[in-house]
Amino acid sequence: MKGMGRRTLLLLLCAFGSAKGETPPRPAKGKLGRSPDGKPLLETKDGRSILLEGDVDTLSVLDDERLAGVELEVFGKSLGPDRFEVGPIYRKSMLVLRDGKRLTISYWCDLCSIRNYTPGKCQCCQEETALDLREE
Ligand SMILES: [Zn+2]
Repeated sequence: MKGMGRRTLLLLLCAFGSAKGETPPRPAKGKLGRSPDGKPLLETKDGRSILLEGDVDTLSVLDDERLAGVELEVFGKSLGPDRFEVGPIYRKSMLVLRDGKRLTISYWCDLCSIRNYTPGKCQCCQEETALDLREE
């Protein structure tokens, strides 16, 4: 009986642990800045710096000078108190917060009417695309 009790307690602890792990991660919010060695980070309101990680496309957006200093909300996975992995770009894991609105980040070529998710030259006409922030 004594052994049974211990086992039940362990099971309860496990169940509690997994239930806790299933809660969706909260997004990280802050001002887009840069670490001394040039890595993108969020400066939170409470004065913390959270280094941002992500795939190549995500990093190219975070690297865009036109977005420097914007208020950003990112969705993904917290890797600790000061590190955050931004989710895939096609899931719109990054939003710009401006005037109480949430804006999606994309890049627009006027000539070809083509929308891209990453900055740089238009794949069609090779002109530089324009940053286009749109309401969700
Ligand atoms: Zn084009």
